[in-house]
Amino acid sequence: MSSRSWSLPVKGESICPYCGVGCRLELDGELGPYSASIKIRGVADAPANLGKICAKGSLLGETIATPDRLDHPMMRSSRGETFRPATWDTAINKVAGRFREIIAKHGPDAVAFYGSGQLDTEAAYLACKLFKGHLHTNNTDSNSRLCMASAVAGYRSSLGSDGPPNCYDDIEIADVVFIIGSNMAEAHPVTFDRLKAAKAARPGMTIIVVDPRKTATAKIADIHLPIRPGGDIALLNALCRLIIDFDMCDEGFIAHHTNGIAALKEYLAEEKVSALCAAAGLDQTQVERVARRISRTQTFLSFYCMGMGQSTVGTWKCNSLINLHLLTGQIGKPGAGPFSLTGQPNAMGGREAGLLAHQLPGYRFVDDAGHRRELERAWKQPEGSIQPKMGLTAVEMFRSLEKGQLKAIWIAATNPMVSLPDLHLVKRALERAELVVVSDAYHPTETTLAADVLFPAAQWGEKEWTSTSSERLVSFSPKLFDAPGVALSDWQILARMGKALGFSGFDFENSAEVWEEFRALTTGRPCDMTGITAKRLRSDRHVYWPCPTEEHRGSPRRYLDHVFPTPDGRARLLARPHQVPRELTDHEFPFILTTGRLYAHWHTLTRTAKCEKLNRRDPGAYLEIHHDDARKMDIATGEVVQISSRRGTIRLPARVSEQVAPGQVFLPFHWGDLYGEGNAVNYLTIAATDTISKQPELKFCAVAVEKIPAELKVAVRTPTPAEVAQVFAQVQVSPAALMDPVTR
Ligand code: SF4
Repeated sequence: MSSRSWSLPVKGESICPYCGVGCRLELDGELGPYSASIKIRGVADAPANLGKICAKGSLLGETIATPDRLDHPMMRSSRGETFRPATWDTAINKVAGRFREIIAKHGPDAVAFYGSGQLDTEAAYLACKLFKGHLHTNNTDSNSRLCMASAVAGYRSSLGSDGPPNCYDDIEIADVVFIIGSNMAEAHPVTFDRLKAAKAARPGMTIIVVDPRKTATAKIADIHLPIRPGGDIALLNALCRLIIDFDMCDEGFIAHHTNGIAALKEYLAEEKVSALCAAAGLDQTQVERVARRISRTQTFLSFYCMGMGQSTVGTWKCNSLINLHLLTGQIGKPGAGPFSLTGQPNAMGGREAGLLAHQLPGYRFVDDAGHRRELERAWKQPEGSIQPKMGLTAVEMFRSLEKGQLKAIWIAATNPMVSLPDLHLVKRALERAELVVVSDAYHPTETTLAADVLFPAAQWGEKEWTSTSSERLVSFSPKLFDAPGVALSDWQILARMGKALGFSGFDFENSAEVWEEFRALTTGRPCDMTGITAKRLRSDRHVYWPCPTEEHRGSPRRYLDHVFPTPDGRARLLARPHQVPRELTDHEFPFILTTGRLYAHWHTLTRTAKCEKLNRRDPGAYLEIHHDDARKMDIATGEVVQISSRRGTIRLPARVSEQVAPGQVFLPFHWGDLYGEGNAVNYLTIAATDTISKQPELKFCAVAVEKIPAELKVAVRTPTPAEVAQVFAQVQVSPAALMDPVTR
């Protein structure tokens, strides 16, 4: 049971812990052991949200003092047993001891850390320092691999460095806004509302939305291109080819600031626009209209998200979009540029701190000997301590666990038993693991139920933390109230583990000391935060990087001098051919399945399912299917259908609609086994990954849909209170309180 101490009143500011918009919230209210009455508003002068917030942010108060807060470390000696509470010393020493044994027997690459963009920068940095610098394994990755790895690789290969060039203020300046692979209206609602307001103020602004579905975002578009899933490169190449044919390239920009134009033109000259449009499933006249609109505008801004990156060619898709900006000189000026939207509050900070298997802090890389040496010196480690080979990435970690090569994994602030593709593989992997440690604010989650040891983590308002939003705004959030029980900040848990393993360099008094150590490592790097001191963050609240000195005001926009962080200062135009998705449909699996988010929920429901109003808006998973397909199979809305892929089968109610095209179906990805065993969409998805970014193809797989006999429909229903109580009884928390989210 939770033992939260009172800390009244709750008053102050914090960054929203949900999406990467990075809204600054103002809290005012009271918090009790099992309830919170907190009014949450947007901060009026916050650059990201200008006083606005969405329903998820405004209802955060309901997610703080819930009975399923993990407030003590928990352990068990075998997976079938019930968890027992433990002291921090016992739990940390147990894990440190097991890590030592496993490393002694199998080597450092037998252990791994799998974190998330929920971790603050301080925690991401210490995870990198502990695992890469001291345990000597690069098996240190994050669930950002699932959402932003292709954007990272795309920026790096095209522009020389990760990090979007833009800021949200570009919305009010842009004449043409091109949204591809992003349902902003549901996933980044405050940014979407800002775009809508900008369009209302300047009706001449053109909004183009590229999406296979008629999403809420597509509904405000002047032009909606209902692309065939997987056709993005074909479309982007068609646009580039048309702009070249129209003679509308910015030749001066190309000549002075890019490389690769000859090869790109030569490649595109071989491609027929008609064939590219056909591959994208689009009407050529519409594509030509878009090319003309883009080529004639003063300011062209594009937003993109997982619809681009979650693909076996996600990096190439990002390169192709950046080509469009480079050809037209639409980068490095206000109102223009390619702008990736992150799904998590600190996905950007994790990238900056090196929490990806190929990276080191300060946008350094494990395959660069100079970078490794800089970190070894900073961390007082012998030369050669950091391995030169990229570690296991998200999907690879679970494949390696399944094969019995990776033995132990520490999962922090994420729920891979819902979010990773091919959940049967993930389940087998966790069952085979010798040691599964999970740090989380809540228990149970689908992943904590598979653990041996649980570490209770303090969440957003319960700690000091630093994060970077999609627009490179580094923000500080103060502690506003106590964490329940003995829960600690993630950086404190990592520092304790570092000390228990016998390492010096983990003796920090507070989060500011961790930040200062990390900040010093960014000096001279593309993400230079030298001027963003802990003291300044605590007074100014937020600063854009790069910010090389304490006097510097920060940089809302990058590349204004048109000098890119490549060896010759030029950006790269890269010829990228269209590729078909990894899994093709056939007579056995004739539908294309795409996945995505809903407005009311965030990731795997660990917070949002606790809010009655959010559950009322989006109460459960469903299969969206087009009228024509439904009619052929005699399926009506609400009827249960069976959806199968080559990896698994699930059953869900159908929602017949015209939002999705014939031959395609859509499933929201939020729901896991806690809300109906075996019905998570990721039992179907494919674990194929992009060869460069290693991001999995969560947006495309082939499925079959069948209407199922009436007697089987009982397989999909809301669990009864008794069933829910049975699930939760094994984890020693109050079942009555936990029933709410699943029974509403
Ligand atoms: S838009 Fe994102 S950051 Fe802003 S309140 Fe909503 S969930 Fe939070």
